[in-house]
Amino acid sequence: MHIALIGIGNMGKPMGRNMIKAGHSVTGYDLQAEAVDYIVKQGGKAAASAVEAARDADIIMTMLPTSDHVRDVYLGDGELLNQVPAGVLFMDSSTISSSVTRDLAEEVKKRGSKMIDAPVSGGTHGAEAATLTFMVGGDAEDLERARPILEAMGRNIVHAGANGAGQTAKICNNMLSGICMVGCVEALALGAANGLDPKVLSEIMRTSSGTNFALQQLNPYPGVMENVPASRGYTGGFRTEFQLKDMRLAVQLANEARTLATLGEIACNFFALHCDAGYAKHDYSSIMLMMAPHLKADMPDAD
Ligand code: NAD
Repeated sequence: MHIALIGIGNMGKPMGRNMIKAGHSVTGYDLQAEAVDYIVKQGGKAAASAVEAARDADIIMTMLPTSDHVRDVYLGDGELLNQVPAGVLFMDSSTISSSVTRDLAEEVKKRGSKMIDAPVSGGTHGAEAATLTFMVGGDAEDLERARPILEAMGRNIVHAGANGAGQTAKICNNMLSGICMVGCVEALALGAANGLDPKVLSEIMRTSSGTNFALQQLNPYPGVMENVPASRGYTGGFRTEFQLKDMRLAVQLANEARTLATLGEIACNFFALHCDAGYAKHDYSSIMLMMAPHLKADMPDAD
């Protein structure tokens, strides 16, 4: 298959590489020249614009930071949607608003093409290992069209429902993971302040009723787990600014649906304060530093 990959950042790089490894032809475009060079080094092709990347593509995939970025690429100056022939499949794997996704899917449809939302979970590690979970919104037949590339990048591919449903599932998941991270950090800070060894406490909670993903895979206390952001100055993971974006999407969705997201809102405020304190670029497990400020000593800057 011929894929246009627009947005080649921390996630787009390994996802692009895995599509190329699986035998697909990938043409990449990013605002950063080094990102496009990366795709070329992996065996892909370079494009000087999103429209150029999309030329002759079967699937146009975006992996961009926010709703505004995706809308801008689709409908902004380059007018990507007006420049591609009808019948192309658009696939957005960024995490963005469900309602923006539904609006964009309508715009795509008006021009005779189709769109699926296919946001991912699994982080940069899952992207490297091609073990991502894809939560797909859109028509089942369009998921099937994209399946060969989804299988090149992920292990679990779930059809969540109509356009926007993939994003809704992703937003629910990230609200829960944000709440769990804040809870995990509070419990570890409480134990450590009362003289417990964070390693011992983590092991107890990991095998008890408090267990969760943060304890199992992403322990936020420095030195408890190897190869996690907390043990390398909270660098190289899921940026706090992205966690905040996702929590804000969750709070907005809850307001629109008139459901309670009280804990989601509290956790969202924690991440907002943490970003304001200068940790927007650090991994979201760095929220540990808010609850245990003495750990701030010797923390390197994140990119
Ligand atoms: P990133 O910031 O590393 O990469 C985004 C890339 O998009 C950058 O290289 C940027 O230059 C490029 N870009 C921005 N505007 C552009 C435009 N108009 N045209 C072309 N390129 C443009 O972000 P990321 O970590 O790769 O995340 C991408 C999306 O995936 C986000 O929505 C994020 O929430 C989601 N996500 C990230 C992770 C993670 O662990 N990093 C995990 C799951 C989901």
